[in-house]
Amino acid sequence: MRNEPTPTEPDSNERHAATSSSARARSDAMATKIFTQTPLFIDNTFVAPRNPSSKIDVIDAATENVIATLPEASAADVDSAFDAADRAFPEWSKLGGAARAKYMLKIAEAVKKQSNYDQLALLESHMGKPLAESKWDVDDVAYCFEYYATKATELDGKQGTPVPLPDEDYKCELRYDAMGVAACIVPWNYPLLMATWKLAPALAAGCTVVIKPSEFTPLTLLLLMKIINDEAPLPPGVINVVIGTGRVGQMMASHPRADKVAFTGSEATGSKVMATAAPSIKNVSLELGGKSAIIVFDDASLDIAVEWVMFGCFWTNGQICSATSRLLIHKPLEAAFLTRLVECAKAIPIINPLDPAQAEATGALGPLVAKRQLDTVSRLVNEACKDNHATLLTGGRRPPSMPKGYFYEPTVLHLTPKANGKYPEIWTTEVFGPVLSVVTFETEAEAVRLANGTSFGLAAAVLSADGPRCRRVAAALQAGIVWVQCSQPAFCDAPWGGFKRSGIGRELGEAGLYNYLEMKQVTTYVAGDKPLGWYALPPRSKL
Ligand code: NAD
Repeated sequence: MRNEPTPTEPDSNERHAATSSSARARSDAMATKIFTQTPLFIDNTFVAPRNPSSKIDVIDAATENVIATLPEASAADVDSAFDAADRAFPEWSKLGGAARAKYMLKIAEAVKKQSNYDQLALLESHMGKPLAESKWDVDDVAYCFEYYATKATELDGKQGTPVPLPDEDYKCELRYDAMGVAACIVPWNYPLLMATWKLAPALAAGCTVVIKPSEFTPLTLLLLMKIINDEAPLPPGVINVVIGTGRVGQMMASHPRADKVAFTGSEATGSKVMATAAPSIKNVSLELGGKSAIIVFDDASLDIAVEWVMFGCFWTNGQICSATSRLLIHKPLEAAFLTRLVECAKAIPIINPLDPAQAEATGALGPLVAKRQLDTVSRLVNEACKDNHATLLTGGRRPPSMPKGYFYEPTVLHLTPKANGKYPEIWTTEVFGPVLSVVTFETEAEAVRLANGTSFGLAAAVLSADGPRCRRVAAALQAGIVWVQCSQPAFCDAPWGGFKRSGIGRELGEAGLYNYLEMKQVTTYVAGDKPLGWYALPPRSKL
């Protein structure tokens, strides 16, 4: 969420304001012409798949128009990508962190260049993100490369870190070796940013990469590779992109040349990825789903809390892993809060993210990514509404004003407990759309129990004027990310990941770098000629 402008480039506010329709035409032309013919990036070259078995339609979420059709990679293409990454690994890993950082800073600079920045943001918005949000993501992409460039340089200084030992006959030091070739599989909700959260630390660590974007949103990663290749080229084979569905992802997770598997996606697919990687004991890190709670106490400031609750669930059209999509509202504030929340949710503008008249608006809602997602969200809400213990306060339908596109209104459901104390299923199921479920609580202990009562543990938030209470609740919440007085800010500088079924390992921050490093101890016997003295050695025989 943060990006320091360089003196020669416009700052991010200027960049936000500067998108032109010619940039949009260029980004669409790029999507339809170049990548449809040669959608694989291997050894710094865009190539066509060999014997593609199927094709993937990329659809604009607001118009339902097919904007590109890409042939899917075959097993032979996946092999070529891993061959390239494998060949590139020895030199890239030996280069040293400071040298790798120079490449990464050039990438950040290329991303921030106005014309590239505009094209990336526009192309990203085809997946349904209002343009203002896509631009925010592109800022984060640049910052993430800069952040890990710093970490790469610092890594050089960490090589040989002494480890104090209790025996002076030995000295021990630590080294950090790149794991090798990383197979990275990413989802569609932040197509560029989720890819960058893997690419930047992997490159900093000295790994080479084979990466697959989601079949719903493959274009912006390809555009990023084109920008990198044209303006900040890496040595051939350092990053390779393959295009395809889960079939290709499966080939990657089981590939004999993959030393590391880094996955972001749903819990169900994460479990499959783990199983696929298990026979060859690959190092697997998983960033999975969530059903995060936001607790609002009665002393919270009403309008401020309402805005954070809406941002926590409706930002990126509700398609955020960490969305605080379960509101726990303190009983004394319930009536006033829900009245205001519904009033404000109804006022959120629903827009076509690429409509020039509306695109720069903040606080707007675009369409869901795909028909599949719209169907899932509609089904989960409709099923919940059949339950006597769920009351629809607003939303729950496609907006009548948007006859085309995968739009869904901001939705609020008030849930009450059943006779067995349980809430309707939607309370613990990840919906991945703009759907907020609300439950009322009376005590702090009850709020914490309800917040922790899911199999997920990605994020949670608490809003209250009582500082010590916020600290107590933050300590008790079972989640990898806890927000106090806010929801959703994500900084590259801090570790990101979940407890329980929300994943294994952490991305971002220093921890993100260690996802791609093997720690090695080098222990040296420094007692010179002093014998070990463990065996009673017999006299030497005469030779
Ligand atoms: P998904 O699991 O359907 O797909 C993710 C990726 O995995 C895609 O590239 C897909 O092609 C690939 N894939 C599918 N089947 C595979 C298989 N058997 N083997 C290997 N790869 C396979 O997820 P999605 O619908 O793209 O994304 C939404 C999910 O991602 C949500 O659950 C969300 O919470 C999660 N997510 C988590 C984080 C996080 O940081 N924890 C961030 C973003 C999204």
